Amino acid sequence: MKKIRYNSWIANHLLFKGYSTITIAAWVCTRYKGKEEMPQRVRNHECTHARQWCECILASGVIIWILVLLAGISAWWFALSFGMFYILYALEWLVKLCFYGTEAYRNISFEREANAGEDNETYLENSGYFEWIKFIRKAK
Ligand SMILES: [Zn+2]
Repeated sequence: MKKIRYNSWIANHLLFKGYSTITIAAWVCTRYKGKEEMPQRVRNHECTHARQWCECILASGVIIWILVLLAGISAWWFALSFGMFYILYALEWLVKLCFYGTEAYRNISFEREANAGEDNETYLENSGYFEWIKFIRKAK
């Protein structure tokens, strides 16, 4: 299954005007018709978010797996892993809203990592996993 969905129904029908692309789970949905039309920096930015989503589902899945085995919690908690990226994203946005106001979105660690690497053609190849953690405390 392709990671980038060009001319996506989701992007065409659900995004607000002025927005071209959204990453949902590990897939990038875009209004761009094809690879040639989509700027590489947008592709880099959104693919970084897709990797972040994978990191969050894996890390939270391991933690929940340990809790299922050792603490006997219900396996239904695994469903939380699917949304962990969005939960952390929203929580960080709420916290940073207190410090940065309207600039909170730009200071979310997931956005800061994606912005920092979007002009680097080899960012995803050469960066480590969980790099977004380094951006939680850095001031912009
Ligand atoms: Zn972003």
